[in-house]
Amino acid sequence: MKSEKKNDEKSYTGIDYFRLAAALLIITIHTSPLAGFSETADFILTRIFARVAVPFFFVTSGFFLISRYNYQIGKLSAFVRKTAIIYGAAILLYIPVNLYNGYFKMENLLPNLIKDIVFDGTLYHLWYLPASILGGVIAWYLVKKLDYQKAFAVAAVLYLIGLFGDSYYGVIGSISVCSSFYALIFQVSDYTRNGIFFAPVFFVMGGFIADQREETAWKKLVCSHSEQECAAGSSKIDLLHENRILWNGIGMGLTLALMLAEGLTLHHFQVQRHDSMYVFLLPCVYFLFLLLLQFRGNRYVWLRDVSLIIYLIHPMMIVVIRLAAKLFHLQALLVDNSVIHFLAVTAASAAFSVAAVALWHRLGQKRKKHNTNTERAYMEISLENLAHNVAVLRSAMPSKCELMAVVKAEAYGHGMCEIAICLDKIGVRAFAAATIDEGIKLRRCGVRGEILILGFTAPERAGELRKYDLTQTLIDYDYACRLNEQGCKIKAHMKIDTGMHRLGFDSDLNIEEILRVFAMEHLCISGIYTHLCVADSLDEEDVCFTRQQIAGFYGVLKQLKKEGIRIPKIHIQSSYGLLNYPELKCSYVRAGVALYGVLSTPDAQTKLQLDLRPVLSLKAKVILLRFVSQGESVGYGRTFVTDRDSVIAILPIGYADGFPRSLSGRDSYVLINGSWAPIVGRICMDQLAVDVTDIAGVEVGMTATLIGTDGSETIDAPTVAYDSGSITNELLSRLGNRLGRIQ
Ligand SMILES: *Cc1c(COP(=O)(O)O)cnc(C)c1O
Repeated sequence: MKSEKKNDEKSYTGIDYFRLAAALLIITIHTSPLAGFSETADFILTRIFARVAVPFFFVTSGFFLISRYNYQIGKLSAFVRKTAIIYGAAILLYIPVNLYNGYFKMENLLPNLIKDIVFDGTLYHLWYLPASILGGVIAWYLVKKLDYQKAFAVAAVLYLIGLFGDSYYGVIGSISVCSSFYALIFQVSDYTRNGIFFAPVFFVMGGFIADQREETAWKKLVCSHSEQECAAGSSKIDLLHENRILWNGIGMGLTLALMLAEGLTLHHFQVQRHDSMYVFLLPCVYFLFLLLLQFRGNRYVWLRDVSLIIYLIHPMMIVVIRLAAKLFHLQALLVDNSVIHFLAVTAASAAFSVAAVALWHRLGQKRKKHNTNTERAYMEISLENLAHNVAVLRSAMPSKCELMAVVKAEAYGHGMCEIAICLDKIGVRAFAAATIDEGIKLRRCGVRGEILILGFTAPERAGELRKYDLTQTLIDYDYACRLNEQGCKIKAHMKIDTGMHRLGFDSDLNIEEILRVFAMEHLCISGIYTHLCVADSLDEEDVCFTRQQIAGFYGVLKQLKKEGIRIPKIHIQSSYGLLNYPELKCSYVRAGVALYGVLSTPDAQTKLQLDLRPVLSLKAKVILLRFVSQGESVGYGRTFVTDRDSVIAILPIGYADGFPRSLSGRDSYVLINGSWAPIVGRICMDQLAVDVTDIAGVEVGMTATLIGTDGSETIDAPTVAYDSGSITNELLSRLGNRLGRIQ
């Protein structure tokens, strides 16, 4: 996905450029360049076409801010804080103008001041900033709580209310209920083009476009890894892609023409109270934005700042130009000629903002970005490999079988939300978690589809199961009864114990009980499954046992069928179940460890051999090099004594980060500079030492690889796990949350 991400960046060029165009359009609104020639031409330019500018800015902010997956409220508060600071600065900047206007002499100063600060702006153009804050916050919560369709519906209703207080005011003006409703609104805000009625729909739109793009990009990537899987789907996507510029161009042109007709009609019949909002503004800005995303090239992020400053400063420049004109008796040229007036304001604003941005960048140069995630010890997650594994696993599964991604224990240490969000974008629609709290966390980060809780949930939490639409495993008869007694409708999968003797209904004994559970009023049983306990082994005896387990499970299904029960979704295999018994035809495969591209042990023999790629690498920075003379010891217990003068590198990672202490003294290595460096002495809680005497060129700040590839050498997780006396699953799931994480 790294290359994809770069491509993404490249496709923001159009947005960068249009920011500038939009800022200029806004200057036209406030300078009316064509007014000297034709009223109609000026109306068309400034009151119709230029109206795409502000919505474009909203969509752009929404594009980078809003997402159905946004679970980090920090992003929203950062946006609000930043916009508020800019707004505050702009208010201060314009106080002299306000003073000159007599702003502070108005009646009811305080209520008016509050109203202006929240909705209208303390100077005419500043309304955009509080509208961004309000619109961003409203859209954020709408998308979070309702997802796009409903969020868009709500935002569209708000927009509709806005329309009738703006361009369509004349239509409802005669209806008294309506006019008193709007009179109420206009007491609080001068216009309906504000943060409540105008902005949210465009923020939602921006978020929708961003999420949609990500999803398409991921799905294409998955398709590229597995031809048979989605050949049909991907060719459709490609076809769409080729014609995108054309279609979006047509859409944009068409809706712009319709908006022109709409605006002229409303203007003709004098319906408009204000002219910021049109029906066709919505599709027009949508197509415009999609079109802009098709332009590729270098990014010009500084254009963002330049256009923002132009936006903020141009009213000041209008004042400056007028003053200058007065001083030098150039009114006829600089003010009365509308085109030259516009050009002068534009030139002055552009010059000011380029100078300001250049100055700012010069001052800011010293503050180089520091990545706190990689300064110590961290895991590097390859979502591209995750997507690849999904494709590979899917193509190994029978056609109607779906992947149920097991993301319990922070997705085996990989970071549950990040992994699940990526899988959701890829189109995985079934997940398994161990606990209800994991399930809730998944919902909160925007995961759709089925979420099965594999373990025990206190029956008292039935309400939460329902609220978050989680599916609970029924672990035995008593449990099912207690859950049913809670009295709220719960989705459940019934677990059948076929020999693991951990959770589940005994497959031999209690078909009666199983039948009773199927009849329970408040349990909606949408699945039935079992878990194999030696599916990883190809020993004859183990295969025989597994076959018995499978037969036992199908035996239960047969009896249920006989009793007239409609069999719900079935699943048996986890990773090794799929790899060793790929012929089973189930509704789901519950893949955990294989999804992360590794097997449990280094010498695993499996019937299917798939090209799985490890998702996780573990790395740490060399923070210290020390020279230890021959015969000195290193670390606790003095277990390691140098047999020569040695160079020892200290890595800031230890067992508290999940790197097993039991690897101490076991002939284990890390990779530095593409070479093997032995771990020496005991692994501590927060540090470990490696011997780099034989490796040339090791320096402080270099990256050591504990799991993963460096140059031509690789240390794989199963080997590390095996050397530490465990299996990959345990090693990975213990990589605690103290590690940094990059992807
Ligand atoms: C953890 C778990 C899985 C996933 O197992 P892997 O071997 O990691 O694929 C599947 N089913 C159940 C019931 C589990 O507890």
